[in-house]
Amino acid sequence: MTAESEIDDLRRRIRTADEQYYNRGHSDLTDADYDALFVLLRKLEAAHPGLVTADSPTQRVGAPLPKGGSFATLPHLAPMGSIESLMVADDVVAFGERAAKLLALPADATLQWSCEPKLDGVSANLLYEDGVLQRGLSRGDGTAGEDLTTNLKTIRNLPLRLAGPGPFPRQIEIRGEVIMSKRGFALLQEREETSADGQFRNARNTTAGTLKLQDPRVVKRRPLDFIAFAIGHVDGAAFATHAELRRQLAAWGFQVAEPFRVVDGIAGVLAFRDEQEAARDSLPYELDGIVAKVDRLDWQAQLGRTSRTPRWALAYKFVPRLATTRVLQIGAQVGRTGAVTPVAHLEPVDLAGVTVRNASLHNWALLAERDVRAGDTVEIQRAGDVIPEVVRVHLDRRPADAVPPAPPSACPACQGPLQQEGKFVYCGNLDCKDQLVGRIVHLAGRRAFDIEGLGPKQVEQLVAAKLVASIEDVFALAPKKAALLELERWGERSTQNLLEQIDRARTPALARFLHGIGIRHVGESTAKDLATHFGTLERIAAADANALMTVDGVGEEVAAAVVEFFASDKNRTTLAALAAAGVRPQEAVAVAQGPLLGRVFVFTGGLTTMSRDEAKAKVEALGAKTAGSIGKKVTDVVAGADAGSKLDKARQLGITIHDEAAFAALLGAS
Ligand SMILES: [Zn+2]
Repeated sequence: MTAESEIDDLRRRIRTADEQYYNRGHSDLTDADYDALFVLLRKLEAAHPGLVTADSPTQRVGAPLPKGGSFATLPHLAPMGSIESLMVADDVVAFGERAAKLLALPADATLQWSCEPKLDGVSANLLYEDGVLQRGLSRGDGTAGEDLTTNLKTIRNLPLRLAGPGPFPRQIEIRGEVIMSKRGFALLQEREETSADGQFRNARNTTAGTLKLQDPRVVKRRPLDFIAFAIGHVDGAAFATHAELRRQLAAWGFQVAEPFRVVDGIAGVLAFRDEQEAARDSLPYELDGIVAKVDRLDWQAQLGRTSRTPRWALAYKFVPRLATTRVLQIGAQVGRTGAVTPVAHLEPVDLAGVTVRNASLHNWALLAERDVRAGDTVEIQRAGDVIPEVVRVHLDRRPADAVPPAPPSACPACQGPLQQEGKFVYCGNLDCKDQLVGRIVHLAGRRAFDIEGLGPKQVEQLVAAKLVASIEDVFALAPKKAALLELERWGERSTQNLLEQIDRARTPALARFLHGIGIRHVGESTAKDLATHFGTLERIAAADANALMTVDGVGEEVAAAVVEFFASDKNRTTLAALAAAGVRPQEAVAVAQGPLLGRVFVFTGGLTTMSRDEAKAKVEALGAKTAGSIGKKVTDVVAGADAGSKLDKARQLGITIHDEAAFAALLGAS
């Protein structure tokens, strides 16, 4: 096979896997197979730079904008308008009647409407020429938008070239919504909840901020999806209905919004909206309503538009999850990482069936910006499972004596001193009670050690009764059963259940263990990546920043946090105490990778800067294997002081030999 056809073949297989993954939820390739194809493609392209094309899957991550640079503004080929937004059923009925009348349909004819969810994200307009993505713009003012091509290309379910055999339109604009799924947003929040920016307020806001980032490598790590919903300018394709257009978009490899239905008459539109509103919490994305379009495109053309919006499409919004209430007080809460954040205590109010007593204010900078004060009448909003947030202050109803709240000068839980870091203030006292409660609740969480029956209330009780003073104490509760039974509302059965749960939690998967012990910046998905890459806790603990950064998605900040965690005496003590209590993470099946992949090291003689175990862990973290004696598979021998017979044997076999300085240089270079 020529390099060219091999490259083509690899790209085709990667694209098929991407498409399967996003449109069916799984692909025929394992992650490891997929990664292997990617590595191979990168290698071939590096060897044949002339064969690199803009639509290659390796080109999803481009160069960052220069510092202080801004995105260019480019015109849309066809204007990108908005559609009329309706809140009331009567208005929707009137809209439908007007459309039917303008089309002069006979009285017994029903107009068909295609209905789909209205996703709450950020619109984008992609231009494809002969099937290849040329650029992607934001909506902007509707006639021109910002050139976000480099950032949009990082979205894995956004085709860099249209799928299928073609022929493709000479030019076509594909419009869609860039969104973050509820799950993706939740994971991002976990992973970066202690990020200094503290900007992840809700999925839509985060999506908008992400698309404007200057560095596509950061964008790539954010869980963005592109959902196609319309076309703009088109040259070289024609469709009869919106349903047909959607089928073609899917065939070209785009994800389209589900559920989708073509309904008879406006009554069908009303019913579709009510159904989706009832189901909105179970859908994977945030919706704020539905979109209905006259299904026949020739009728769309015939209906045309008013000066502002088309006469053939409408958005029928859900009842917003907004409520108005009063701020009783602005307090501060301490999280498990020590971050002290403001919280608004509210007059209890019903918000879509949930009684809300608190709203998040995120951080003190944002609080100052929004200027929320005790006594204010505010509008709060709840999106998905996220804690409600204050979205508006009714300044006209502000009491004359309301004053802006001041950030606390000491920790509200332990009265310890606070440190400023980015937009956050932290309590630096590791024994702070609220932090301890937060750490244990996190450790027991469903995605960590998964200990049922250890929620905030129970942990508060345990800490207050001094039955636990550290996370490791959780695993030493069994001998204290009598004391547990004296706690309020702790019965024999529930206590026994809890102790059994704790016992079962002693051998968590490595990823759950890492997530649970609360390393800064290491949330669920980073923990999984680290576990898969390194396999054991010992290797992670021994890895230096460079080795950690070979893990996809681990940047400087995360690597530094991991190194710092394992270097801390206090954390070492905690880990040793956990081990003594019988807590052992299960080894992960490591997918070996790293710069020393394929090499086998033997150590002989003593090293002055590290123990042999540390040295072994370091090369293993870089992908190498280690052996105890010289054999055929050994590729490298590290010879320290007083190296013995192994060294002679290695010389005879012509194996590469490193002295301690060369070994240090090798580790540094890797
Ligand atoms: Zn404190």
